[in-house]
Amino acid sequence: MTDRETERQEMVERQLVPRGIADRRVLDAMRKVPRHRFVGPGVESSAYGDHALPIGEGQTISQPFMVALMTQELGLIGDEKVLEIGTGSGYQTALLAELADRVFSIERVESLARRAQKTIEELGYQNVLIKIGDGTIGWNEFAPFDRIIVTAGAPEVPQSLLEQLADPGIIAIPVGSRGFQELHVLERKDGVDTKRNAGGCVFVPLLGREGWGNGK
Ligand code: SAM
Repeated sequence: MTDRETERQEMVERQLVPRGIADRRVLDAMRKVPRHRFVGPGVESSAYGDHALPIGEGQTISQPFMVALMTQELGLIGDEKVLEIGTGSGYQTALLAELADRVFSIERVESLARRAQKTIEELGYQNVLIKIGDGTIGWNEFAPFDRIIVTAGAPEVPQSLLEQLADPGIIAIPVGSRGFQELHVLERKDGVDTKRNAGGCVFVPLLGREGWGNGK
């Protein structure tokens, strides 16, 4: 094993398994995807720590546990079409690419989207499409999506995303104030939406037409 592989193994055993991440496929993907390739220059040595890290432009790559929890909540089996809002570094995108059929990811900050695209390409993922834009309005052209994951904090679930969710389908999204959110997991089945709360979290704000910023 290389040093990085050992660090990933330890991240899984010490940070994820004891906190209840039990989905085998999620744990295997977290052991495989090289998180250090997605963090900013100079912080690679902290990439596997139990915390979020800066990725530039005032944005962050989320703590490994939060990434694993959100991914687990999606219940992916491998044949899904997934929409991700907030590409950021592309780390979560790579995990989704490992676990689902196709991934559509939207990032509003151009420099981050371009860097994520480059890393995703260098790692050889061919089932990912990244676009620069406002993810709060979704990506109508490719809707409906079996799963939607939002990795920024929203004041409420954007209506456009609800409209672009398939049936059956699941959305995982942090909802709350700018400073603190609850992870909402909304499951749609036979035309009925059921929402549950999967715990507290702190994300950077989801900015845009159906997020923060328009009078909110
Ligand atoms: N999942 C990312 C990762 O693995 O690195 C971390 C995402 S970071 C916590 C949140 C990202 O959401 C930021 O890169 C931010 O620019 C982006 N964002 C905020 N509002 C957005 C919007 N309306 N559409 C698309 N991206 C948005």
